[in-house]
Amino acid sequence: MVYAANLGYPRIGKKRQLKKALEAFWSGAIQEESLLESCRALRADNWKVQSEKGIDFIPSNDFSMYDHVLDTIAMAGAVPKRFGWNGKTVDLRTYFTMARGLIKVDESNGNSLQTRAMEMTKWFNTNYHIIVPEITDVQQFRPATKKCLDEFLEAKKLGYLTRPVLLGPVSFLLLSKGYSSNRRKLLLERLLEVYRAIFDQLSEAGCQWIQIDEPFLSMDLDRETRDLFRLSYEKLSQCKLAIMLTSYFAEIGDNLPWVINLPIHGIHLDLINGKKDLDAIYKYLPDATFLSAGVVDGRNVWRADLTKTISALEDIAEKIGPERLIVSPSCSLLHVPLDVELETPMNEEVKSWLAFAEQKLDEVSIVTDALCIGLREIQSALHENRQVIAWQKTSEIRNDPAVEKRLKTISSSMTRRRSNYAERFLAQKRELELPLLPTTTIGSFPQTKDIREARKKYRSGEISKADYELAMQKEIETNIGLQEKIGLDVFVHGEPERTDMVEYFSEMLQGFTSTQHGWVQSYGSRYVKPPILYGNVSRPKAMTVDWAVFAQRLSEKPVKGMLTGPVTILQWSFVRDDQSREKTCTEIALAIRDEVEDLEKAGIRVIQIDEPAIREGLPIRKRAWGDYLRWAVDCFRLATCSVKDETQIHTHMCYSEFGDMVDDIARMDADVISIEAARSQMDLLEFLREKEYPNSIGPGVYDIHSPRVPSDDEIDDLIMKALQVIPIDRLWINPDCGLKTRDWREVVPSLNALAQSAMRLRKEAGKTSWRFGTITPKKDLSKP
Ligand code: GLN
Ligand code: ZN
Repeated sequence: MVYAANLGYPRIGKKRQLKKALEAFWSGAIQEESLLESCRALRADNWKVQSEKGIDFIPSNDFSMYDHVLDTIAMAGAVPKRFGWNGKTVDLRTYFTMARGLIKVDESNGNSLQTRAMEMTKWFNTNYHIIVPEITDVQQFRPATKKCLDEFLEAKKLGYLTRPVLLGPVSFLLLSKGYSSNRRKLLLERLLEVYRAIFDQLSEAGCQWIQIDEPFLSMDLDRETRDLFRLSYEKLSQCKLAIMLTSYFAEIGDNLPWVINLPIHGIHLDLINGKKDLDAIYKYLPDATFLSAGVVDGRNVWRADLTKTISALEDIAEKIGPERLIVSPSCSLLHVPLDVELETPMNEEVKSWLAFAEQKLDEVSIVTDALCIGLREIQSALHENRQVIAWQKTSEIRNDPAVEKRLKTISSSMTRRRSNYAERFLAQKRELELPLLPTTTIGSFPQTKDIREARKKYRSGEISKADYELAMQKEIETNIGLQEKIGLDVFVHGEPERTDMVEYFSEMLQGFTSTQHGWVQSYGSRYVKPPILYGNVSRPKAMTVDWAVFAQRLSEKPVKGMLTGPVTILQWSFVRDDQSREKTCTEIALAIRDEVEDLEKAGIRVIQIDEPAIREGLPIRKRAWGDYLRWAVDCFRLATCSVKDETQIHTHMCYSEFGDMVDDIARMDADVISIEAARSQMDLLEFLREKEYPNSIGPGVYDIHSPRVPSDDEIDDLIMKALQVIPIDRLWINPDCGLKTRDWREVVPSLNALAQSAMRLRKEAGKTSWRFGTITPKKDLSKP
């Protein structure tokens, strides 16, 4: 007997029911009971699908109204003080306030009081965001929700004996911020009491197995952390549940020998991203421990090669015996869309290569059957699968010989600018005639209702392409006019024509397709529809030149050409898995390079290539960082280095955790980089100083994540702070990120303040003797 398992199922529903219910609830259109009912229906649907597909271990508690880490926060009663929680059970209001914050208006004086939402961060190397737990040195924990038990019972009532999923206690603590590391052990001991209470409730309710996710097991761990894992699982094994310890996204690697000896009943291995674990596991797997083999890729959308998968599983079964082998996806299916069958207008050939969550369960089930009841039973499925796999290999839409040929022509001179930065600096100074402390924005301006409506009408055929473009040109005219009025120095067109910075380009590049319903949760009720890169990438024709030229004609000031970088396009798409990410990224880089060349030829003098995703592409394991950073940076250079000295290359990144990457970012050799900094009060300066970042840089001075308009003083302070480190002629003044999600009412005064600050300091700098590289400016600057 071999078992089939699943580790987690998408929560959102095929028709995005969860989003609709949540947003209706938040807006007050529906009541709590109606929201809860929608959630119950979604869970029931999910269990039914999984059961019908023949999954033996069906998860519960994988569902979440917002995020599973937030669920764990609520479960342990780890509600930060500012939410004024009463300390009993965490109700929905508290739950959503932690996720989204709250603005309350004081009736008596009309002042608004803000409760800050909890921070979000990316869930390992995925595009899914978790809520970051905030705990203190004196944190107490107590069971404060019954979600895990309730959902187990709910499923049981419907006839499913599920295997509940919980985020493990050690990973929870390692994700948390706000406490001192010497308190970790004590806090863990407290937290374990909550887990034990929940384990006991579950086992009393008839639960047998529990899945504990500890994705930190796939990271580099020190001895202290190892001890925390030992402590936890020794405690938890005293409860009656059988523990399936689960890690994913990379190999457990050198942690495996001790992990496998924890008192657990089963271990899950991600055999897509951590194949190497398999060799070691034979050596270490204790006789009675179950092995969950994650052989179906939970992170990508391609159909599995069933023949290969079956033979790999047969090999495992032979070595460890079939009776303790469990077949499963590599990780939760949270990260893939729900159902390929919903994609009706899609190239049939590409469609036949795809497997979304439902289809992945079919695959798990088929290969399990192959081992349990023999190949004959699945003959036709196997036959069809072989055909598709073979077809894909030779398909003309996948394989473009011209791209392959071009890849062979890449030489090192293509990834080098003609001159070094010092010379380019002077050439650009002559060409662009920018003032000291030049001001600019990151690209997008508010995507207003008008813009969205025009796009909707165009897509539904209600207005023509020409009408739509006219509407967008109007927006651009307004944007340029506004920037003139505010007095910025380097303009943007405002990106009204773009929905999403990756989708927009993928729709014009060869080798990509997009989906109609391929939604994947990004955070809360926000879902994204990543494009699918199925074949060699090329650029049939210019993508942005007309817009850029139109905008540039409206002003004497330089208008930036705006592109998304190759690493970000790679990172935010589902990409092919039959060639290296490096190669795929290089193909995208060549396509972007073509666009850069065309923009330059069309007279665009400043070109920005955004790479907000470079950091999240870092591999889980540190030892793999070097190789990734080498090719990621090379791809950026390949995309940008064709231009002449006078053409100024900008890039942009959306994070401030900068320390371990300054050298690599410097190696990108962009003339100017804008980077998030306002939110963290310029924390990154220390690293810039230490590593002596060589080119120009615009650390953000306006936090665009908040609706608040920054005061003049705040902006001055941040600029002055930056000037302590960055030489004045290499400092740019800009917001943290694009303004797409903001309202014009905040954007105009904020940009005005930003521009005024720059002008004021510029004047001040002229009066005093500030010099390149040696900055000791006066602290308080007189206001005009
Ligand atoms: N140019 C993009 C914008 O302004 C950059 C967005 C991003 O960094 N994520 O919207
Ligand atoms: Zn950004």
